[in-house]
Parts: sequence; C-alpha cells; structure tokens
Amino acid sequence: MAYESEADDTADVVGVGFGPANLALAIALRERASAESAAAVFKARFFEKQQEFGWHRGMLIDGATMQVSFLKDLVTPRNPTSRFGFLSYLHAKGRFATFLNRKSFYPLRTEFHDYLAWAADQLADDVDYGSEVVEIRPVTDARGTTAAVDVVVRGQGALSTVRTRAIAVASGLEPVLPAGIEAGDRIWHSSDLLYQAEKAATGTPARFVVVGAGQSAAEVVGYLHERFPQAEVHAVFARYGFSVADDSSFTNEVFDPVAVDRYFTSPPDVKAMLLDYHSNTNYAVVDDDTIRDLYDRVYRESLSGVRRLHVHNVSRVRGQEVGTDDVNVRLEFLPTGDVTAVRADAIVYATGYRPGDPLRLLGELGTRCLRDERGNIQVGRDYRVRTTDDVKVDIFLQGSTEHSHGISSSLLSNVAVRAGEIADALEASGRPARHPRNRSSSVSLTEH
Ligand SMILES: Cc1cc2nc3c(=O)[nH]c(=O)nc-3n(C[C@H](O)[C@H](O)[C@H](O)COP(=O)(O)OP(=O)(O)OC[C@H]3O[C@@H](n4cnc5c(N)ncnc54)[C@H](O)[C@@H]3O)c2cc1C
Repeated sequence: MAYESEADDTADVVGVGFGPANLALAIALRERASAESAAAVFKARFFEKQQEFGWHRGMLIDGATMQVSFLKDLVTPRNPTSRFGFLSYLHAKGRFATFLNRKSFYPLRTEFHDYLAWAADQLADDVDYGSEVVEIRPVTDARGTTAAVDVVVRGQGALSTVRTRAIAVASGLEPVLPAGIEAGDRIWHSSDLLYQAEKAATGTPARFVVVGAGQSAAEVVGYLHERFPQAEVHAVFARYGFSVADDSSFTNEVFDPVAVDRYFTSPPDVKAMLLDYHSNTNYAVVDDDTIRDLYDRVYRESLSGVRRLHVHNVSRVRGQEVGTDDVNVRLEFLPTGDVTAVRADAIVYATGYRPGDPLRLLGELGTRCLRDERGNIQVGRDYRVRTTDDVKVDIFLQGSTEHSHGISSSLLSNVAVRAGEIADALEASGRPARHPRNRSSSVSLTEH
C-alpha cells in the first residue's frame, strides 16, 4: 500500500523500547537540543511495552552488584558534565558520601535500577509506557521511494500510529529456554526469578533445580538457597565448575569505545577470533566473589552435615515431568551415564538470552535491509542498517550488533558513546531540520 508523506507531523526519530540503550539516546538528543549551538530540537518519541520503567526487574536480587563501573552510566563517557550521570543521581538522593565510603566501582543492581528509573523519570515527556510497537509499515511515494515509516503501537487495547523518518530499535534480549521446554509455574526462566519466587513463598518449597553455569545461574542458586532456608537447591551444569569471568585490566579494554572502531574494521576471521578469545568476559562465566560465596556455603554445609546446596557438575537434565504439585527432574552424570531423579518444586533454567531479530517488526521493509554472506544484518559504523537505495528511512540498531561492533554491543559499557554517535548520525542526515527551538518537540499519535 502506498502512503503520502505528511511532513509536519513526522517525527525525526522513533525509538522501539526504552531500556538503557534508548534512554541514553533520549538523553543525548535532549542534551543536543539544549546545547547553545543547537538551532532546533529533535522530534523524538519512544515506546516501551512495560507499564513503567524497568530494567531486568525479575533479577533485581538484593545484594547483587553491577558488572560495570558506575562511571559507565548513561552519559559520563560521552559527556562527563551531564546532569544525568550516576554522580548527579547519588547527589540528588543524598548518598554521595556513603557511596564513596563503600569504596566500590560497582553499584548494587537495585541501586543502578533506581538510577536508571530516576533518569527515565526526567525524560517522561518523551516516552509512552504500556505501548508495544507491533509493526512498522513503509510509507512509499509514487516513485517507489520509502522516506518514512508508520510505527504501529498497541497501548491500552487500541492501535495508533506515528510517522517518522528514522527509527532506533533497542528492544533488548529475549530469554532462551532449551528446545521443547515451555515456561510455567514449575518451569521458570531466570528472568522471572523474583516474580516466581514470590509465588512459591506462599507455600513451603522443599527443593529447586537450577540449570546453567553463568552469572545468572550462580545468582539464582545463591538467592534460592538464602531465600528458602528449609529448601535444597540442586545446581546442574555440564562444566566441572563455575568458570570465573575475566575482568582483568588488559582484557577489559575490549569494552572501550576504541575497541568498537577496531572491531568494526577487522576482517571477519579476526572478528570471530576476538569474540572467541573474549567470550569469557561475558558468556557462561561468573564473578569470582559469587563463586567463592557458593563454594563457601557448600564447605560450611559439609562441616555441619546439613546439606542443602548440591552441585551436579558434568551433568545434564535428561528429562522432566511436570506433575500437579512438583516437577520430576532426571539428571544424568555424564562420565558414567548414571541417572538421578530429583523431585522438585520448580526447575529454573538460567540458560541465557539471545538478541531478538530487530528486523522482525519491519515486515516487508526488512527484506530491503542488506545482509552479509553469513546472513547477518549489514550495519554501518554509525549503527545505521544498510538498505537498498529506495529506502531513505534511517534504521538504527542498538544491542543486536555484536557481529559488526563487538562484544560490548548488548552491554552497558558503550551505551553513552553509542547514543552520541547515533545523535551525530541523525544530525548528519539533516535532522532536526524543521523544528526550530521555539516549537514543540512533541509528536502526535493517530488513533485507529
Ligand atoms: C540480570 C541481568 C543483569 C545484567 N547486568 C549487566 C551489567 O551489570 N552490566 C552490563 O553491561 N550489562 C548487563 N546486562 C546486559 C543487558 O543487556 C544490559 O544491561 C541492558 O539491559 C541493555 O539495554 P537495552 O536497552 O539494549 O535492552 P533492555 O534493557 O533489554 O531494554 C529493551 C526494552 O525494550 C522493550 N521492548 C522490547 N520490544 C518492544 C516493543 N516491540 N515495543 C516496545 N518496547 C519493547 C523491553 O520491554 C525493554 O524494556 C545484564 C543483563 C541481565 C539479564
């Protein structure tokens, strides 16, 4: 279907998702507009399907810490004088001195969530919560050029659209369960831990099985062991032990902004090599402190003789039957093939996440986005998807660019700098062209 372009009410950019990545972008655009040199404000609008700001709420385990320095917040690496930095947050909340006295670069996860929500609150005018982007339709003129898209949003039971010349897709990661496994009351993904544990707390759970060897798995084991002091916790993984995450100083440089440049220009075999060498900074690895804590618990239980934490290493789940009140899990010890049955209240899969297909929402327009020989989406250094020539809409990707921009893509390390680069790219495309300072930057939705 062909649409006529309506210049006036067209947004400069629409963001899909309002997690840290698009929140950082919203701030970068806001700061651009308020800079002395700026001649215009961006017409930007962000849509978030959650009812309010939330960053991995199901894993906001009390006491869990961030795996990134507080200085790699939403803004500081791009603009250390920004009022949206973590230090401004601490100051506003009256915790500046106590944070310093704690002497750690790594805030509590609950604290960082509070920081993000504090920043998001200040951008409340730019975002619609409870609004899921369900489709993106090309707006194509008589010559076949697509210079805008209609973003279709479902919110409060109704559909509405907003027209834009650029989109920034930052829809995050999707939880992964093993093939054939479906989540339910007895089968949880770690991303739902706190919600499900709250429900389980209405009874007296006796046993949990936790599958996985990464940071989330180790945290879930520790959490359940502490939260349910009468319950056994069975940790299951194929490795010999939890492996420690490499956060050493030289290796940490792989998260620096300059590492993105180097990765981007590397040939494919060097890219693959770098991801392989340094996957142990992020994948299937655990903080040293967390490992020590779990080992200590096992050791103390071996002294007391009251064994609640059981580690099934070199083992795999071979089957599970969900009953009315429990789930019967069969565990195979791989060296011998011996199978043990564990009757548990729930089995928790801490089996990770994968980036969703960012082009899924684009429908037909997605077929005009170019892919490389490995099937990966072609993305420019400025995070703009390469398209066929008839597409003049800018499609920016945040998060799902590990293949092109390296291992920091799905993490927080570079959200600030990346947001600035996308803002630069928008400006380089001539935006915001038509919205002088004294005009509103709001974008109206067309109800269906
Ligand atoms: C438990 C946990 C802890 C982590 N800790 C760290 C850490 O310490 N350091 C670090 O660097 N990284 C960490 N990460 C990695 C994590 O990916 C990043 O912290 C961060 O969440 C990436 O931000 P994002 O905005 O790209 O994605 P997300 O935070 O996932 O945000 C995406 C948002 O888009 C919304 N959305 C999705 N689809 C739509 C749609 N169609 N319409 C509207 N809204 C939509 C989602 O609801 C979500 O709010 C952690 C991950 C997990 C799971």
